[in-house]
Amino acid sequence: MKKLYLDIETSPHQVYCWGLWSENIGVNQIIQPSRVLCVAYAFDDEGMQFVSEWQDGRKKMIEQLWTVLDKADVVVHYNGVSFDETHLNREFLQAGMDPPARFQSIDLYRTVKRRFRFAANKLEQVAKELELREGKLKVDFVLWRDVLSGSLEAQALMEKYNREDVELTRELYKELLPWIDRHPNAALYEGDDLMRCTRCASENLTKDGFARTSAGTFQRYRCGDCGAQSRGKSRSSTTPLREA
Ligand SMILES: [Zn+2]
Repeated sequence: MKKLYLDIETSPHQVYCWGLWSENIGVNQIIQPSRVLCVAYAFDDEGMQFVSEWQDGRKKMIEQLWTVLDKADVVVHYNGVSFDETHLNREFLQAGMDPPARFQSIDLYRTVKRRFRFAANKLEQVAKELELREGKLKVDFVLWRDVLSGSLEAQALMEKYNREDVELTRELYKELLPWIDRHPNAALYEGDDLMRCTRCASENLTKDGFARTSAGTFQRYRCGDCGAQSRGKSRSSTTPLREA
């Protein structure tokens, strides 16, 4: 399973506005809408890559990202279904490109929101409460302003910030793996018919009770590597009747 970890940084909308407080900004006040500025990404078994508007130019950046997504079976991100993926789709459309090959998404933000209660669901807070890394770099709006005005120092800092977020996403994925619902079936990508964990494809499985659904009873297994549970595909018992 070709798994891609990815995080994007975007520019703010540039707008005209009359006031600083409780302002509603109409679309006719937009000078320049938000765009993708840079992206850090890494395939599971490869090193971190970084592409940006300032290093590579927009055309090359967008084309490279399209190729990378086209190769991925699964994309892992934090709030990427509604943010990163849609921003990138817009860039592809604007560049006149077709969609990349369909991939499955693992949005860790959705797992965090559905299955846990942290003080906040922001990546920074979750990482802190799980003691994952030193925590994200502290940056504020000045960084975006300086990046856009061409400061090499600011651009280097944004690259660092972007790369760190992908590292953090990769670490968080490993922590959350047995908790992720509807994870793509990793065993399918191994091309054999061995009994493998559906999350990490490990064969290190032990029997762990039974799963009972409305259709019947299934053998359940626990993975010794990632801790996730899987269940057998055939029923070990069933009942003559089901609920009508
Ligand atoms: Zn596993």
